[in-house]
Amino acid sequence: MTDTEHRLLLANLPTPLDEAPRLRGALGGPTRCPSILIKRDDLTGLATGGNKARKLEYSVAHAQANGATVLVTTGATQSNHARSTAAAARRAEMRAVLVLTADPADPPPAPAGNHLLDALLGAEIHFVPPGPPPTAESPCPENPHELQAIRRVMAELVAEGEIPHLLPLGASDAIGTAGYVEAAVELEDQLRMLDVRASRVYVAAGTRGTQAGLVLGRKMIDASWRVHGIAVSPGDPEKTARAVVFTNACAERLGTAVRVGGAEFITHQEYFGEGYAIPTPGCREAIRLLAETEALILDPVYTAKAMAGLLDHIRRGDIRAEETVVFIHTGGTASLFAQVDQLGLGAA
Ligand SMILES: *Cc1c(COP(=O)(O)O)cnc(C)c1O
Repeated sequence: MTDTEHRLLLANLPTPLDEAPRLRGALGGPTRCPSILIKRDDLTGLATGGNKARKLEYSVAHAQANGATVLVTTGATQSNHARSTAAAARRAEMRAVLVLTADPADPPPAPAGNHLLDALLGAEIHFVPPGPPPTAESPCPENPHELQAIRRVMAELVAEGEIPHLLPLGASDAIGTAGYVEAAVELEDQLRMLDVRASRVYVAAGTRGTQAGLVLGRKMIDASWRVHGIAVSPGDPEKTARAVVFTNACAERLGTAVRVGGAEFITHQEYFGEGYAIPTPGCREAIRLLAETEALILDPVYTAKAMAGLLDHIRRGDIRAEETVVFIHTGGTASLFAQVDQLGLGAA
């Protein structure tokens, strides 16, 4: 699994596993609140860090092994994945082309947050308008503008003599998922060193690759903890069904006989509010609470919604005070600086 031929070293690993005693205190202390450990994957360090660095170690090595010269990927304007891809491309001495979705109703985005970093990293950026809104029948519709732009970009690169490699949204596929199988092993080693048996691991669930790697990894090592994903946007059961397929394809690549099923993806659907990147009251509260107790910075798109889920589970008594839970801080720090208006700090 740690075969460096299949891995480009991009992340500072292992990431710290920190206690959060002041947060625990604010939630009623050791008699009422479980012990909370925070796995600092925001500190992976790839042009600010985050979870995509672990996945891209495998995804970019795979692209290189296939002779690729350019990484192409997609995402929102504030995509952490797109920024991480732009940074990984520099380390791998490749070009990066990003197809980013921006609402044409908004003024053309002034570079800020991840978009600013994309520009500094010298990525080529193409903006496309959003696709159709999700409906009950089609919870994650394809964006025809994005598909068209990808096709055009890939053809142009080939015409230039480049070998483009398209990375999936969030680097969530059979290859990138291996980064979080590795993270499950790393976390379990750290828990063992602390002589702690954790009961639950909380993580933001977007494209599900992070959750998928943890679910597969925990099963491979028979860890005591279950993975609790907090969905940051709608799209189930389709997203889970897709994740089961790429998780098992990842297992096959890793040469293990372990396979996972949909029931192992515990994904809580109550915390995404109106949709992707739309902050909820719970998410704003989580940002403030973590900043004021632990000086930990969460982002409104992913980590604050995941933390809002964990806080709710603690407050409603789902987790006993004797238990230990782990929160995976998946990053997102850069996007915070482009979302000042959404944070509601003016009303503070
Ligand atoms: C991409 C991302 C996630 C979600 O990870 P998935 O593997 O797409 O589910 C969570 N947090 C942050 C900060 C991210 O950038």
